[in-house]
Amino acid sequence: MNLHEYQGKEILNSFGVRIQRGIVAQNAHEAVAAAKQLTAETGTGWHVIKAQVHAGGRGKGGGVKLAKNLQEVEEIAGQIIGMNLITPQTSAEGKKVHQVLVAEDVYYPGANEPDEYYMSVLLNRTTGRNMIMYSTEGGMDIETVAEETPHLIFTEEIDPSVGLLPFQARRVAFNLGLSGVAFKEMTKFVMALYTAYDKSDASLFEINPVLKTSDDKIMAVDAKVTIDDNALYRHKNYVDMRDIREENPVEVEANELGLNYVDLDGNVGCMVNGAGLAMATMDLIKQAGGEPANFLDVGGTADAKRVEEAFRIILKDDNVKAILINIFGGIVRCDRVAQGVVDAYKNMGDAIKIPIIVRLQGTNADIAKELIDNSGLDVQSAVQFQEAADKVQAVLA
Ligand code: GDP
Ligand code: MN
Repeated sequence: MNLHEYQGKEILNSFGVRIQRGIVAQNAHEAVAAAKQLTAETGTGWHVIKAQVHAGGRGKGGGVKLAKNLQEVEEIAGQIIGMNLITPQTSAEGKKVHQVLVAEDVYYPGANEPDEYYMSVLLNRTTGRNMIMYSTEGGMDIETVAEETPHLIFTEEIDPSVGLLPFQARRVAFNLGLSGVAFKEMTKFVMALYTAYDKSDASLFEINPVLKTSDDKIMAVDAKVTIDDNALYRHKNYVDMRDIREENPVEVEANELGLNYVDLDGNVGCMVNGAGLAMATMDLIKQAGGEPANFLDVGGTADAKRVEEAFRIILKDDNVKAILINIFGGIVRCDRVAQGVVDAYKNMGDAIKIPIIVRLQGTNADIAKELIDNSGLDVQSAVQFQEAADKVQAVLA
C-alpha cells in the first residue's frame, strides 16, 4: 500500500523522526486556515503548497510551490487542487490532485545551495537484508545519480539479528560529510528512520530530500512510503490511510472480489489459476509475439461465478483482443472448470465479442476438452501450452 507524503510524515513523526511540519487541506479555504495555524505554531511566514498524489517528481510538474503570504497560499492551493498533475512518474494523462499539504518553509533564503541529501530504507532482495541507501546528491532523481555519479551513492546493510547499530548510523553521517551538531542530528535521524521502517512493516521509506537546516537540524522534507500489504493486519491504524482514488479502479474492484489482478498494457487477457502459472502464461504469450493485458490469478475455485467475474474484469480493458484461459486442474477437476467457462460465457449474453482460447490440463482434461469443443461457442480448446499461445497469435493476426 502506497501512502501520501503527509501520511508518511505522520508515521515518521510518530517514531521521532524530525519532519517539515505541515497540515493537509482539501480546498483553498482550508489551506489558508492551515497556513495560519502553522504560523502560530512555528512562526513561519512562508509556506510550501504540495500536491498530494501517489507520484514523485511533483516539483518538476508544478505541484510544489512556495507561497509568501496568505493570499498566495489561497491562490496556489486553488490552482493545484483540481489540477491534472503530470510528472515524470505519472502517465501522460497525469493525476488529478484532490488535496494539498501546506507545509512550513524550511529553506533559508540567501544560501547558495541548500544542503539536501537522499536517503531510503528498503529491502535488498539479493542479500535478503534491509539496507539504507543514501547520497549527498539530494533533491535529484536518484536514478540519474546512479547513472551519472554512482560513486556518490552509499549503502549500509543491516544484520537482521542485531538491527541497525549506532556505528553504522555514524558512518552514514560521516559519509555525508557532516560534523558537529549536524553529525549528531543525522545519527539520531538515521536511527529513528530505521526504527520507523522496521516497526511499521514498510517495504520502502524514501526521503528525498533530507534537509540540513541553517541551524544544523536534520529533517525529512519529503516522504515516499510503501507498507507491506501482508502486514497491514498488524497496523489497524494504517488501514484507513489507503486512498483508493490513487489506485487503478479495475484493480480495486478485482481486489474486492478476491481476484489477484494487475492491469498491464498488452492485448491478450489472461485468466489463470495460481500465481506461478500466471507468470509462466504471460512469458509464453510474450514469446509467441503477443503482449499480456493483465496478470490474473483466479485462485483455487474456478467455478462459473468466479470465471464470470474474471471475464467482466478482463473485458473492462478495451485493449483486450483475445482471452487465454490457462487452468491446471488438480483438486478442481478440469471438467468443472470447463463447465464454469461455458456457463459463464452463456450467462454473459453477448458481452463477449472476442475469441477465447482455453487450455485445461490435469484431472479429467479430456472430458473438459470435449465440453469446450461441443459448446458451440467461440471458444477454442488447446492441450499443450505452446499450442494455446500459437492459437492466440493466430486469432490476433
Ligand atoms: P517531489 O518533487 O515530488 O519529489 O516533491 P518534494 O517534496 O521533494 O519537493 C520538491 C522540491 O521542492 C524539493 O526538492 C525542494 O527543492 C522544494 N521544497 C520542498 N520544501 C520546500 C520548502 O520548505 N521551501 C522551499 N523553498 N522549497 C521547498
Ligand atoms: Mn522528493
